[in-house]
Amino acid sequence: VIEIRDLHKSFGTLEVLKGVDLRAMKGEVVSLIGSSGSGKSTLLRCANLLEHCQSGDILFQGEAISWKGDAHGRQPGDPAQVTRIRTNLSMVFQQFNLWSHMSILQNVMEAPVTVLSQPKSEVEARARALLDKVGIGDKCDVYPAQLSGGQQQRAAIARALAMEPEALLFDEPTSALDPELEQEVVKVIKALATEGRTMIIVTHDMKMAADVSDKVIFLHQGKIEEQGPPEALFGNPQSARLQQFLKSTA
Ligand code: ATP
Ligand code: MG
Repeated sequence: VIEIRDLHKSFGTLEVLKGVDLRAMKGEVVSLIGSSGSGKSTLLRCANLLEHCQSGDILFQGEAISWKGDAHGRQPGDPAQVTRIRTNLSMVFQQFNLWSHMSILQNVMEAPVTVLSQPKSEVEARARALLDKVGIGDKCDVYPAQLSGGQQQRAAIARALAMEPEALLFDEPTSALDPELEQEVVKVIKALATEGRTMIIVTHDMKMAADVSDKVIFLHQGKIEEQGPPEALFGNPQSARLQQFLKSTA
């Protein structure tokens, strides 16, 4: 579904991604782990075009992003393509980012109605079903501030699913949560993995990464240091840096 080839990204003189390749096939769950500052969020943001990289290819369902400009000012050349990709790659952030002035139901309905121009009644039925699915079907009419962090994050996941995306991108979806609330969100993510959703998950939760992933990628200073199935990566890490990192998170 998503393929990234030899991606380079700098902020000014700081080179954050130094030639990264990443592939998530349909139904695959890929986790990205690594120390703070290793470039995990930047990689996700490049994948759904929130950031523009200096060089490298990004393909979505086999279709390559077309770029205009050069390495100094490169940006996607086709706005329709950008919209198509954004709506098909829903992102869930660490800080939920729900709209505080809208009810939970409205939050979930907003994008399908305004961006995809889908009929309200149809979207509403789907939104209610999604909120049920993430376990907060009784919270449709309340505002985000009235929910716990775990409930807000589950609402944010329902909102991402409402776009019926091809793939979901998660950036540390549980790290703003207390441990008890974290588990509610992990449960939802596990259920999505079981359904065969394509997902890329940046996480500091090694247990979740081990449980849900088909592949785990360890990023170190903007490069992939090691990758493989979770059993190998966690059970038998090869690189000294990964061994060190896993010790530090244990
Ligand atoms: P964390 O685990 O703390 O979230 P991360 O692996 O997600 O870290 P990134 O957020 O991708 O790391 O940041 C990688 C590097 O890029 C950091 O050194 C950061 O300071 C830098 N960086 C990120 N965004 C910007 C920006 N908008 N402008 C300048 N530098 C940035
Ligand atoms: Mg980050």
